[in-house]
Amino acid sequence: MEKVALLKCTDYDVDAIEKKLREGFELLGGTAFLRSLIPANSRVLLKPNFLTVIEKGSPVITHYAVFEAVVRIVKEYTDNIAFGDSPGSGDTRKAAEKSGLMEVADRYGVKFADFNDEVHVELDKPLMYKFWNVARAAYEADVVITLPKLKTHAMMYYTGAVKNQFGCVPGSKKGEWHTKLPDAVNFSKMLLDLNSVVKTSFAILDGIVAMEGNGPRNGTPRKMDTIIMGKSLTAVDSTAVRLIGYDNVMAVPLLEVAHDTGWGAVLPEEIEVLGEKIEDMRCEGFKLSRSAKVVNFITPSLNKLAASLTAPDPVVNAEKCISCRKCNEVCPERPKVISFVNRNGKVVPKWNYRNCIRCFCCQELCPVGAIETRDKKLSRMLGIIK
Ligand code: SF4
Ligand code: SF4
Repeated sequence: MEKVALLKCTDYDVDAIEKKLREGFELLGGTAFLRSLIPANSRVLLKPNFLTVIEKGSPVITHYAVFEAVVRIVKEYTDNIAFGDSPGSGDTRKAAEKSGLMEVADRYGVKFADFNDEVHVELDKPLMYKFWNVARAAYEADVVITLPKLKTHAMMYYTGAVKNQFGCVPGSKKGEWHTKLPDAVNFSKMLLDLNSVVKTSFAILDGIVAMEGNGPRNGTPRKMDTIIMGKSLTAVDSTAVRLIGYDNVMAVPLLEVAHDTGWGAVLPEEIEVLGEKIEDMRCEGFKLSRSAKVVNFITPSLNKLAASLTAPDPVVNAEKCISCRKCNEVCPERPKVISFVNRNGKVVPKWNYRNCIRCFCCQELCPVGAIETRDKKLSRMLGIIK
């Protein structure tokens, strides 16, 4: 039975968060637990979620107050702490500075890790991929602690602890994975393999202010007053999705794959929730990204066809669009799926849906939230979405 601590924390006051985290560690086993999690003088890597260069305090990224509270606790066990991420776009150092994490890191002597320095690794018994290039700082750390945000995700429905580790894939290689794996099931297998390569010891999920709707970047902030902590990343994610409305956690592709492959604890009966009760912390009316069943075939071309027939389409909200062309820049598909057209005097993107793999990188990284998702009538008719 995996244990997670479910905590209520109502704002981003660093002292209050630190107090809550200490309560969480106490529930999980106190000082003995922390000593075994962080052996004296071990190399600890903190893995926040930057996504791109975004203003500090934004609900898109790991909050600097959560980061500071974690650093205060970890520093009692080791001085050898680094932090890093490889965002979906933009310069990592700038992302770290803008997020406010760099300032906290400088104050506490936490080193900035360059995730562009990569290492080639071979994985024993993969679900899908044996050979990997991952950030050396994450791979070589003794202890990796992931610090995800609780958000919706257009492709994966939800993003939390397991998905946050996708940032351990350096730079543009993330786009290559999207191109290779356009469907949520195979993408989930890849994420789980990645999490077998970069072994993460602990997750602290920031859901104090989460994101609903058009996430993971352009959704609506939703106050949930929630922190979830635990050693099992799938148990933390499973607990999170129960809070936002997935009564059946297997409706989330990543969790279904994790369960079916025996990768980690997913079902409620496999997870002991300590601290607050799930019923008391549920976020009623949380706007999910979508609730589609997974359509998955053996061959990539059939998956692409299935995606084009059933997955939602990215569409532009022309009023919001600032014609920056970032969507085209981040699209991993070749030839490019997006062209630009003039609509009422404004240049806006137009999609070739036949070639679009529905990875939603464009939606994720549009700087002004001008890309939304539109469900297909066919999916509704077939009962693929509710
Ligand atoms: S949709 Fe977004 S990313 Fe694309 S051109 Fe418009 S503002 Fe830029
Ligand atoms: S257009 Fe958007 S959703 Fe389609 S393949 Fe490109 S980035 Fe992915």
